[in-house]
Amino acid sequence: MSGKIKSSRFLTLLSTIVLVTGSISCSNSEKPITKDTFVMGTRAWITVYSKDRTEAEKAIKKAFREFYRIDSAMSNWKKTSEISRLNSLSGKGPARVSEELFNIIERAFSFSRLTDGAFDITARPLVTLWGFEGGKVHLPDHAEVKEALSRVGYTRVSLNRDSLSVTLPDGFEIDLAGIAKGYAVDRARDILENCGMESALINLGGNIYAMGNPPGKDGWKIGVRDPLGSTRVVARLVLRDLAVATSADYENYNVINGKRYGHIIDPATGYPASGVLSVTVIAKEAITADALSTGFFVLGPERSKEKIDTTKEVRALFAVQSDSGSIEYIKIGEFGPTCRLTLKK
Ligand code: ADP
Ligand code: MG
Repeated sequence: MSGKIKSSRFLTLLSTIVLVTGSISCSNSEKPITKDTFVMGTRAWITVYSKDRTEAEKAIKKAFREFYRIDSAMSNWKKTSEISRLNSLSGKGPARVSEELFNIIERAFSFSRLTDGAFDITARPLVTLWGFEGGKVHLPDHAEVKEALSRVGYTRVSLNRDSLSVTLPDGFEIDLAGIAKGYAVDRARDILENCGMESALINLGGNIYAMGNPPGKDGWKIGVRDPLGSTRVVARLVLRDLAVATSADYENYNVINGKRYGHIIDPATGYPASGVLSVTVIAKEAITADALSTGFFVLGPERSKEKIDTTKEVRALFAVQSDSGSIEYIKIGEFGPTCRLTLKK
């Protein structure tokens, strides 16, 4: 193929969500403890308020160990991961997997059903074809898209809980990149809770869980970034015991012949989803926020609204480009005392 091909990826350095923690003041002896690490191809931070610094540090370390463990099992980049092993068995009949992997695949399929297939972990052949996740940056022709599409579709994967087996048709492959970070954040929340922590903020590459509230505040303040990719904060959220994630065009894209192609693919067409600049989803669990932000990015605000009506716990903030070129923000779902949203003028 002729023409200029450029890859622009700054996913790892610019987190979708900027934390606005500068104004937190301590009304008692609790001091925030923050640690960070690099895992799952991105940066992770955990902040905990606790009177016992040693216990808090131990809890954070334990949560980070869980991130590394999940990364080793669920990364497509690691040849030895359980997911890579499963993918290598596609077309070879039922493959037995761990109960954990079985559960996450089953959970992913429930998000596929909710989003009419817009979120689909079997989209990997398309993700690779378009040059994401290790593939060559490439503008595929219609025949190539059609061929990859023939190897995509969660309804063609069979799951058997009794034998914990997954049957992938030949050429099928699973990609957990749109759900594993959210899952890991939920596991980290459980670990912190079991360690007796009550006030914490977990952030794994923009997949956030706000546990409890900082001392003297009613929730954790979180800034939503400019949907065009600058570091400007365009909206503020105050969250308590809620998760949030954003899927955005600016996060990860390739430029081919001067046109931008985003990393979220519409499994209905085989082409990168377009029309939405960014979508921020707030939910009870981080796994839901992670998967639905990707699914809603594909569906767009109108179709997502129907889905949100059926899941009361979910709210979303869409940023779309209006016909006049300005950015329009669309709020869907109920924002209340534990989930406050303020759009900046
Ligand atoms: P990120 O993980 O990059 O922060 P997302 O959570 O939105 O962003 O997940 C996007 C990733 O999920 C893509 O890079 C790709 O690996 C995978 N993916 C792409 N399209 C879909 C889709 N329609 N459904 C599920 N996963 C997808
Ligand atoms: Mg996601």
